[in-house]
Amino acid sequence: MSLQAERITILGSGLVGSLLAIYLAKRGYQVDIYERRPDMRKNRVAAGRSINLALSERGWTALEQVGIRKQIEDVAIPMYARMVHNTDGSLSGQPYGKDGQAIYSVSRGGLNCTLMDCAERFPNISIHFNQRIEDVNLKEKQFAVIKEDGQVDRINYEILFGADGAFSALRAALQRTDRFEYSQSYIEHGYKELTIPAGDSGSFLMEKNALHIWPRKNFMLIALPNQDGSFTCTLFFQFDGEESFSRIKTKAEAHDFLNRYFPDAVAMMPHCLDDFFHNPTSSLVTVRCYPWSYEDSACLIGDSAHAIVPFFGQGMNCGFEDCRILDQLMTEHANWHELFGAFQLSRKPNADAIATLALNNFIEMRDLVADPHFLKKKKIESRIAQLYPDQFISAYGMVSFTNIPYADALRRGREQNNLLEELSAIPNLDDDILSAMSKKILK
Ligand SMILES: Cc1cc2nc3c(=O)[nH]c(=O)nc-3n(C[C@H](O)[C@H](O)[C@H](O)COP(=O)(O)OP(=O)(O)OC[C@H]3O[C@@H](n4cnc5c(N)ncnc54)[C@H](O)[C@@H]3O)c2cc1C
Repeated sequence: MSLQAERITILGSGLVGSLLAIYLAKRGYQVDIYERRPDMRKNRVAAGRSINLALSERGWTALEQVGIRKQIEDVAIPMYARMVHNTDGSLSGQPYGKDGQAIYSVSRGGLNCTLMDCAERFPNISIHFNQRIEDVNLKEKQFAVIKEDGQVDRINYEILFGADGAFSALRAALQRTDRFEYSQSYIEHGYKELTIPAGDSGSFLMEKNALHIWPRKNFMLIALPNQDGSFTCTLFFQFDGEESFSRIKTKAEAHDFLNRYFPDAVAMMPHCLDDFFHNPTSSLVTVRCYPWSYEDSACLIGDSAHAIVPFFGQGMNCGFEDCRILDQLMTEHANWHELFGAFQLSRKPNADAIATLALNNFIEMRDLVADPHFLKKKKIESRIAQLYPDQFISAYGMVSFTNIPYADALRRGREQNNLLEELSAIPNLDDDILSAMSKKILK
């Protein structure tokens, strides 16, 4: 069975667009990618700015499928646990999974460059940089390309994928079609990046193999390790309100705030005040829409179809999984219309589920990881996992360490949470009671 097309056009050579191109090129299609930014590989310094992402099992599976896992593994740092920095200055490590299970810190720019390098090794992939796409005409199968010098070309396409992120030009065109469902919602928190530089000769000033969290109820700081010994920290904080970005106007106010809540981190951040005022405050959006495709010619993929908040570290992983599932469905469908229909039907419930899981995980990370009731439930959960290592897997584990559909992870996670609430209310809980009651959530 083969889907007919001479050329396939992709908008965006970000993480998902680049990986999608590789999947399509392996199937023999001629692929053209239009990217609005310049080629970040020609300016490695900017590309390598230490902004990092957590890569987990779904991402690895999708990379492995096209044979590029190894290149990325070489530059990924395993994070085996959350390292919680408590308000009293103490640290507590909470392993993410069983022995050896980890999520991996990778540089966003480095990963994107590697994916583009891998893509350009295929003679049938061309990436066109500095080409901003606007005004997609779905009926005419045509879009406008705005070049660096402002010149505008119109290009025809046969099959178009929009991998152009949360503010997609293809999605903007779909929004003007009849019965297109669309919502975007911002959370009241924004984020700002700060840096803990490397110590002497590139040493790590904190535990290297952990994702560090400073949960402070309504807001939090996190830090992920980089290859060069530094950590990229992200402060998630309200835009407005009594304690908020909008209330911090001077270096003295920033100094007071950071020292009050994160003194151990500040001690390792000599440039935090400059970073605080120099780095932008960015917003966090969840985008839900449907359908993702138009007839037999255009389809959204990655953030353009389902941008989510970053608290489960799954946006990119979900986009990579989109590519793997699309590729799998390509073997089962003979025409593009059917393929796009099957793809969106299969992915939409999972995209919705990870959007919900990601919003819930913000509350868990910023508030609950230091909450005694939550910790009690975690302890019971660990005991169930010890008693039934092959039959129990936590919701976090399903999302991060397996390819179980997100919608199943959400549903099973809710069942588990209900049981953990029941169990945590039992006074003298022992293994017999635990075993008897856990049966319903084992596989
Ligand atoms: C603070 C933060 C932390 C995150 N952490 C994680 C994490 O730990 N793990 C994880 O899995 N995910 C994480 N994510 C989510 C992840 O960044 C996204 O899900 C991922 O980047 C989506 O990839 P994409 O290729 O779909 O979109 P993008 O990465 O946004 O790429 C879109 C590409 O399209 C190009 N483009 C856009 N518009 C046009 C246009 N009109 N014409 C031409 N080109 C265009 C852009 O320049 C870009 O190259 C995080 C997100 C944020 C904001």
